Amino acid sequence: MKVEILAVGTELLLGNIVNTNAQYIATRLADLGIDVYHQAVVGDNSERLLKAYEQAFERADLVITTGGLGPTKDDITKEVAFDYFGKTAILHEDILKTIEEYFKKINKDMVESNKKQAYFPEDAIILNNKVGTAPGCIIESNNKILIVLPGPPKEMKPMFEDCVVPYLMKYQDGVLASKVLRVIGVGESATAEIIEDIIDTGKNPTVATYAKDNEVTIRLTSKAKTEDDAFELIKPVEEEIKKRLGIAVYAEGDVSLEDTVGKILIENNLTISTAESCTGGLLASKLINYPGISSVFKEGAITYSNDSKIKRLKVKKETLEKFGAVSSQVAAEMAEGIAKVTNSNIGLSTTGIAGPSGGSLEKPVGLVYIGLYIKGEVRTKELHLTGDRQRIRNTAVIRAIDWLRIELLRKQ
Ligand code: ATP
Repeated sequence: MKVEILAVGTELLLGNIVNTNAQYIATRLADLGIDVYHQAVVGDNSERLLKAYEQAFERADLVITTGGLGPTKDDITKEVAFDYFGKTAILHEDILKTIEEYFKKINKDMVESNKKQAYFPEDAIILNNKVGTAPGCIIESNNKILIVLPGPPKEMKPMFEDCVVPYLMKYQDGVLASKVLRVIGVGESATAEIIEDIIDTGKNPTVATYAKDNEVTIRLTSKAKTEDDAFELIKPVEEEIKKRLGIAVYAEGDVSLEDTVGKILIENNLTISTAESCTGGLLASKLINYPGISSVFKEGAITYSNDSKIKRLKVKKETLEKFGAVSSQVAAEMAEGIAKVTNSNIGLSTTGIAGPSGGSLEKPVGLVYIGLYIKGEVRTKELHLTGDRQRIRNTAVIRAIDWLRIELLRKQ
């Protein structure tokens, strides 16, 4: 099946928004083993949209559109599609009721123009919108399939996952299964290089890597007669990837780094406290994302000033004067200090220069020290991070938690 993604919206053409919908759909179709041959973008203009449909169906059997399903006059994706297929749209009373109920739920009056969103050809497959008012639809006609989805990603994604994926499965022989491995501490290109041969030769399962928020996701997707058979196909490839990447694979599926670390801490009954300077509470906040962490997380101190480092953490004045607040010596005393004053098994600290100012030749922006006190031993790590203030702070947090994860696994 040849697929084309057609994004509708003048905002896209003007560069006001980025076409993340096309990226999302293309990635997901690749996971499903469905080929996308073209992507196009067209403005909210009926003539040009009609032309875009004609061109798209000259080269594809299935066209997926996003955007232009709103109630206003310039939202024309559906209407032009109905014209293209020569179909008459009729009011679907049940959909109108759902839209009216949606407005009641959000305590707003439904305007007359919203009625437009309840018009579809009689034989269209209507796709429910869980998050907004505009339903999507699927039109099948003369071996052509058009799937019409809303523009806002938060509406488009659930509709794609809940309605479009099961629909597309009809066109797949057998069942698809997929597994996600989460990798940290190895960049996307390095990960891809380590498993390059597996990615290149992988057909069943296919193996794809995506980078997001300081980590890499590896998705293995296989197709077989049954789901169990599909997972059986994944197993040896998954094992090989895990063997090559070792400890960098920190979790499978929908599990975050803080979930992984939180679980180890709780299972081993290890208490932890944090002392933060440059990350200003982000480290504690991330660890606290994990539900249940309260049984082991004792205190998160934001000790930004030298004074608070001395008072709260018992960092020595001489250490601060001799080495400066951003130093491995201070990171070590912060980690040990917070562990001791809170009577925790583990103390984790950060001190660094997040920028944009405050750097020097000797201590440039991006220099961050992490201190880790664990079971009576204190160690530090020096990081040289890049990016803006926010990125440096976020990366420092991830690297700190990941270092803790690795040390915990080593000490187990
Ligand atoms: P609505 O019912 O909210 O009017 P719609 O289906 O008519 O939705 P548009 O009006 O085209 O969609 O776009 C609404 C918003 O959705 C845009 O302002 C933008 O934020 C987002 N959006 C639209 N198309 C895309 C796209 N291709 N990629 C990412 N975001 C998009």
